[in-house]
Amino acid sequence: MTALLSVENVSKTFSFRSGWFGPLTTLDALCDVTLSVAPGETLAVVGESGCGKTTLGRSIVRAQPVTAGKVTYRPPGHDPVELTALDKRAMKPWRRDIRMIFQDPMSSLNPHMRVFDIVAEPLRIHRLARGQELEERVAGVLEKVGIPRDAMGRYPHAFSGGQRQRIGIARALVLDPKLVIADEAVSALDVSIQAQVLNLLEDLKDEFGLTYIFISHDLGVVNYIADRVVVMYLGHVVENAPTEALFERPRHPYTEILLEALPIADPARRMRRAKTVRGEIPYLGSRPTGCPFHTRCRFAEDRCRTEKPALRKVGETEVACHFAETLELKGAYGDAPAT
Ligand code: SF4
Repeated sequence: MTALLSVENVSKTFSFRSGWFGPLTTLDALCDVTLSVAPGETLAVVGESGCGKTTLGRSIVRAQPVTAGKVTYRPPGHDPVELTALDKRAMKPWRRDIRMIFQDPMSSLNPHMRVFDIVAEPLRIHRLARGQELEERVAGVLEKVGIPRDAMGRYPHAFSGGQRQRIGIARALVLDPKLVIADEAVSALDVSIQAQVLNLLEDLKDEFGLTYIFISHDLGVVNYIADRVVVMYLGHVVENAPTEALFERPRHPYTEILLEALPIADPARRMRRAKTVRGEIPYLGSRPTGCPFHTRCRFAEDRCRTEKPALRKVGETEVACHFAETLELKGAYGDAPAT
């Protein structure tokens, strides 16, 4: 199936000085990232803090320019659009199609604006509705996310965390987007509220015909919502697999570590699993040579320290590891099945 959006060889480097006269430091937040999302798919992007997943989301919506590579959006019934080649003005119409939901609704919603104005703002910016039509569209989308019409005049502080996230979702959906990028959209919520918001996102996906890129560090949430998972480490894609395959038969040692963090009931198995975790994530400004994961990998060999593995197909998975065919890694439900 033709991808709705594809990211090809995208890199993003930040440069900054420490102090007025300090040396210029560069930080590679994204390194040659390639992935795509099909229409109607929920693609999860996972990894620890600093792995580049939020930078990836911001690069797709052009909240920041990329250093190299391209992002192509294929709107239904329209020629493909290379978003990375557009300036701010040319990008504006496509911002209606690609919307973001953020982690912390308290900081992403303006506390001085009424809920009505928060949700109406994108319609006003894009000059899509006014007067009675504006009011009806705002009330309609709020009702779809479970916020009653008579709450439109209140301010964000009058709502719970889960309700504020619903308002953030309404603001994203009011423009009738095709692709929604949810950046840690349920991370700040209690577990029971997380489930409600995830179910809501699932329902809205069907109702609005949405495609999701779901950025998260929580593999439990990802297992629940995603069709496919991209695992990132130090700005690199290290694994890209259908959700079931990734949980049952991970191909990259870093994915195995992430799966170990999932809660499991059997304490003996938990102890066995803990033995495979090694080291801390390296400082982004001093990346390891060769395979970016070799400083923490229990399978690392000399080749891994000098030669960077390419992302390649192994079974139904894309994986960046020299030895992906032969490694025996534990899945989320126990030892990996034989290949
Ligand atoms: Fe580990 Fe080497 Fe594979 Fe990297 S290439 S994940 S260091 S075995």
